[in-house]
Amino acid sequence: MSLVIVGSLAFDTIQTPRERREKVVGGSCTYCALAASFFTSPKIVGVVGEDFPREIIQFFQSKKIDTRGLEARPGKTFFWEGHYGYDPEQRETIKTEINVFRDFRPKLPASYRRAEIVFLANIDPDLQDEILSQMESPALVAMDTINLWIATKPEGIWRVLKKVNIFFANEEEIKMLSQETNLIKAARRVLASGPRLAVIKKGEHGALVLGRDFVFGVLGHPCEDVVDPTGAGDSFAGGFLGYLDKAGKISRPQIRRAAVFGSVMASFAIEDFSIERFKALRSEEIEKRFREFRRLVTF
Ligand code: AMP
Repeated sequence: MSLVIVGSLAFDTIQTPRERREKVVGGSCTYCALAASFFTSPKIVGVVGEDFPREIIQFFQSKKIDTRGLEARPGKTFFWEGHYGYDPEQRETIKTEINVFRDFRPKLPASYRRAEIVFLANIDPDLQDEILSQMESPALVAMDTINLWIATKPEGIWRVLKKVNIFFANEEEIKMLSQETNLIKAARRVLASGPRLAVIKKGEHGALVLGRDFVFGVLGHPCEDVVDPTGAGDSFAGGFLGYLDKAGKISRPQIRRAAVFGSVMASFAIEDFSIERFKALRSEEIEKRFREFRRLVTF
């Protein structure tokens, strides 16, 4: 199969209770594509400004990420600043600068349009819709979002959701979007609008995969040192969808394994700032952690 990922490529300024990092490489597409690249060769769609490092694009290419859908434009790369509290779930967005994404109207290369899996990673829902309309007949469409779009463009999100099979969100986001305080009710509201599955990420506690008659829970990896929680959600989606793309079929057992690989990839992403952990990561480490996850829940 093949996997297209559209989302942000960014510079992030991150403040954790212990450290601050200015303008490190981030973005929903960046994390997702790198996590997926351990399973398949994703095709990315996005835009960077002239300030984005060439070495990072070369790094993507060295990981067999197809960058033909990536544009470089005059202007500044998307920028996001986030602060974390002692509880890594407590994240505050300090600043979002859309920059070169403002008038990004991509035309997908022909080879992208035929892809079977599309991931609309966190980005303006109007752009997600526009990309989706260019795809021929994907077998699986997944999407993610973030508070900013839920607050400013909820109707856009509901419109895209109608065309989506899997909705990825964290607990706060799905409750905010559905205006429900109970997680299960929140998921039911989303499922009623179109998707077959809601994958609700619960940070260090793992994730819950909910369908109309399906539920599967996956733990988070017991990690003692969460260095930077940024990108955990996108890395989860990258591991999940990258695995499904490699598996070549979308059955319930595969969905369960995909969720475990999602959690595995998220657990690596948070071990260092920015994409540093993915630079050093080896496939054997992923397999080893997958086996650890299995031991964790076998009794
Ligand atoms: P995550 O921690 O997986 O939810 O995603 C964090 C990434 O999302 C960061 O690297 C940011 O650059 C990116 N991001 C933050 N806000 C937005 C937004 N409004 N649209 C697109 N990407 C964003």
